[in-house]
Amino acid sequence: MVPLNDGVALVTGASRGIGRHVALALAREGARLALVARNAEDLERVVREIRALGRQAVAFPCDLGDASAIPGLVEAVHRTFGRIDVLVNNAGVDNLCFFEGAAPADLERQVALNLTASILLTRHVVPKMLERRRGHIVNMASLAGFHGVPHDAVYGATKAALLAFTSGLRVELHGRGVSASAVAPGFVVGDGLYERHRRTAGRPDPKLLGTTTVEAVVQAVLEAIRRDRPEVIVNSRPMAPVLFLYRVSPRLGLTLLRVLSRDHMRHHARVVQAGRA
Ligand code: NAP
Repeated sequence: MVPLNDGVALVTGASRGIGRHVALALAREGARLALVARNAEDLERVVREIRALGRQAVAFPCDLGDASAIPGLVEAVHRTFGRIDVLVNNAGVDNLCFFEGAAPADLERQVALNLTASILLTRHVVPKMLERRRGHIVNMASLAGFHGVPHDAVYGATKAALLAFTSGLRVELHGRGVSASAVAPGFVVGDGLYERHRRTAGRPDPKLLGTTTVEAVVQAVLEAIRRDRPEVIVNSRPMAPVLFLYRVSPRLGLTLLRVLSRDHMRHHARVVQAGRA
């Protein structure tokens, strides 16, 4: 277990949404924070919030979609703090669309941020963690990583890959003082990307699928680190039976997914597309 008190945590996507709440919670646990996102002003606002808690925080504005920026970012954090104990790969984007009309460049950007950046950040952070035999990686996946999601299939693909990356890495690193966890929330209400969609879409949440809260996701991240959990699903409804059904009978599982979520996601995709036009 990596002690959070006085540990150094690098949180990506820390300028708003879930990442901001995770960063604040880690600061309350006594961690010192390296905050990453593109928007420097938003990051500085979170830096001030953390300093008001009496903790150290430094903003490292960076476009993680640019793989060439990642080694320099990790070096800069090491120069400032001397080490990284916890890496939370949280930055991620959705891309609600009708797949046949999706801009290929948007799909590439989504994979670059949601998946490649998490892998490369981990690659650049892990060697020093192994030298010190101390470190924890948390990858922010999604329920979508277990079964895909209509109207954002690439999002589900990146999250499925993150789940597999996390478990493979975790087993490889076992016994060497460094570990990895995946946190997989369902639809998060209260803040973040789904909350923004639900405010503009004006449609009730899908009752049968359930939702979750930012607070529950934050607790899941803390628990993942404290208890070295391999994978934490965060949702108001138990998902194990649905995921089991999907494994036993993909056809039946996907029929259920269609009934439970396609109309909902299609509506959101239409609203987002209308907003883009
Ligand atoms: P959000 O509110 O849109 O926040 C995304 C964060 O990522 C922001 O800080 C954003 O800051 C940063 N970011 C975006 N593009 C970036 C880039 N190219 N380089 C660096 N940073 C970038 O989203 P969220 O809802 O908090 O989502 C956080 C994570 O939770 C994501 O991985 C998401 O897939 C996952 N998740 C969310 C939900 C949900 O319902 N909200 C459910 C399951 C999983 P800048 O724009 O300033 O760069």
